[in-house]
Amino acid sequence: MIAIPPPLRLRLDSAALVANWRWLAAQSGPAACGAAIKADGYGLGAREVLAVLAAAGCRDFFVAHWSEAAALMPLPTGVALSVLHGVGESDMVAARLLPARPVLNSIEQVARWRAAGEGRPCDVMVDTGMNRLGLRVEEALGGALDGLAIDTLMSHLASADEDHDQNARQLAAFRAVRDAVPARRYSLANSAGICLGGEYAFDLTRPGIALYGGTPRTEAVGHIRQVAVPESRILQVRSVPAGESVGYGAVWTAPRDSRIAVANLGYADGYLRCHAGSGGATWRGRRLPLVGRVSMDLTAFDVSEAEGLGEGDWIAIDYDLAQTSAHTGLSQYELLTGLGARFARHWH
Ligand SMILES: *Cc1c(COP(=O)(O)O)cnc(C)c1O
Repeated sequence: MIAIPPPLRLRLDSAALVANWRWLAAQSGPAACGAAIKADGYGLGAREVLAVLAAAGCRDFFVAHWSEAAALMPLPTGVALSVLHGVGESDMVAARLLPARPVLNSIEQVARWRAAGEGRPCDVMVDTGMNRLGLRVEEALGGALDGLAIDTLMSHLASADEDHDQNARQLAAFRAVRDAVPARRYSLANSAGICLGGEYAFDLTRPGIALYGGTPRTEAVGHIRQVAVPESRILQVRSVPAGESVGYGAVWTAPRDSRIAVANLGYADGYLRCHAGSGGATWRGRRLPLVGRVSMDLTAFDVSEAEGLGEGDWIAIDYDLAQTSAHTGLSQYELLTGLGARFARHWH
């Protein structure tokens, strides 16, 4: 088989990724700063993200599944990997074989890990009010973790992206657990939690979205750089006379004689229909508004002002995460993790 490059690519800026990690590390104060790289590094490519951040000094990485951990082997020297979903019955083979720590999430998982007699340190998640994953605070305080060799004891904030009183409640609950349960390190903050201030940092922070260009709270505005820019090749440019419509449903009608470029990009690539109305692209500094509906594999842009743009040219899709999220109603997380497998990932 020969490798044929696809007509759409994701331009990935490793310098911006490192700059974002350094800013988050500085905001974490004396705490170490790790990286959540689950869901293939939020769609950017977990292997590359891990390599770039490990070279920059990041030592703690988090994935969701054991299959994600296996795909990252072998790990660079000095790098630790934690598996957030812990150990179900069917995970024990992987958990024994792979040099990664499970994040134990329930009494059942703690019992399973103890029974395996690995003796290696594990991580533990305590639920301080989100009611998603983790032992309950009463369980952690009631002796369920006695004698366990815990590397990192963590909890996760449910509302850190908002000024919500749940944040202070979770902080107080986590402090109570820290004071009672011995572990090598304690960890609470994700990207938004880092922005809440130093008291949330403990020994290790776990940013995800802000590494990849997301602004979780206003404190990060002006400090976080865009990392991922989708680019698409133009399939054809057509002249559309004033009064004719473009695309499904004829929802856009040319107000004047227009030049319309049809790009290799659509909802099958994760560029969803909600970009219609606000989406756009740029080419050589020219703004190219999206026109009509987004199709499965195709999207049209008005290139009347972009003299010289033609078949085969690459356009950069507007994808500032905060702004695109505000326009489309998709979260910054959905915007990244939804980008499909047809994009070639190009790191620079
Ligand atoms: C995904 C995740 C993170 C990272 O969260 P962001 O909001 O992307 O910074 C941190 N901790 C846990 C447990 C997670 O699941």
